[in-house]
Amino acid sequence: MDLGIRGRKALVCAASRGLGRGCAEALAAEGVELVINARGAEDLARTAQEIAAAHGVRVTPVAADITTPEGRAQVLEALGGQADILVTNAGGPPPGHWTDWSREDFIRAIDANMLSAIALMQALVPGMMDRGWGRVVNITSAAVRSPIGQLGLSNTARTGLTGFVAGMSRQVAEKGVCVNNLLPGIHDTDRATSLDQGVADAQGITPAEARARREVTIPTRDYGRAEDFGAACAFLCSQQARFIVGQNLLLDGGALNVTI
Ligand code: NAP
Repeated sequence: MDLGIRGRKALVCAASRGLGRGCAEALAAEGVELVINARGAEDLARTAQEIAAAHGVRVTPVAADITTPEGRAQVLEALGGQADILVTNAGGPPPGHWTDWSREDFIRAIDANMLSAIALMQALVPGMMDRGWGRVVNITSAAVRSPIGQLGLSNTARTGLTGFVAGMSRQVAEKGVCVNNLLPGIHDTDRATSLDQGVADAQGITPAEARARREVTIPTRDYGRAEDFGAACAFLCSQQARFIVGQNLLLDGGALNVTI
């Protein structure tokens, strides 16, 4: 299926690897020109070259911390202040216990996983509205639907973003801008590897055993892949997705056992 977005321009944040890279690859495969971001310049430059070579599109890497105003300013400058497609993403907060988190821990998580995405939408969505077309996909987490105790900082910040999007997405849709969230369940990325390592350390088992124990709780009996995730993202950015507004699409292999 042609997604009808060839020649569009996208910003994909936190995209040198993992889910962000999956989204960048899938958009590039549709002929979308990219600005991609991550903090580590070397990895990011390599990813940009690989994506450009594989898909024949222009990919501009901007090495910056997207959770800071300075980092966002660098990325927006590379875009010339405008994009047709915005995929927000950043690293997730560390695990811990609810009794231990300080005000500063919460502020850091909210900055990274809520306010950064909101600031980028505030910067780019007005231009999309003026031009009558835009797509925003926020990478949040399955934790928005089903809390993960040790990731309380993530539960908190991402639920705040979800509330913002619920209201804002309905205020911009009449101008052709569709804003939605993608909720990853467990996917096979570095983040998952480090979470498995944490479980292994806590339970005195191997990381492979930690993974195997988790896999049996998922109806597909495996972890998601970045390319699965990217394909869903590209569809939400497509022409065909014009009637999908303010939704929270859960990609978790059926792990959340609910009827609706
Ligand atoms: P990942 O494999 O660890 O990749 C993270 C990517 O983000 C890297 O490219 C990293 O590059 C970049 N990054 C991290 N912090 C950044 C920052 N402050 N500014 C710019 N770039 C930054 O993680 P992932 O699994 O793709 O996860 C992506 C998001 O989805 C995270 O928020 C994670 O918590 C969430 N999530 C993941 C899963 C899962 O199973 N994988 C499940 C639920 C939610 P640099 O380190 O070089 O900056």
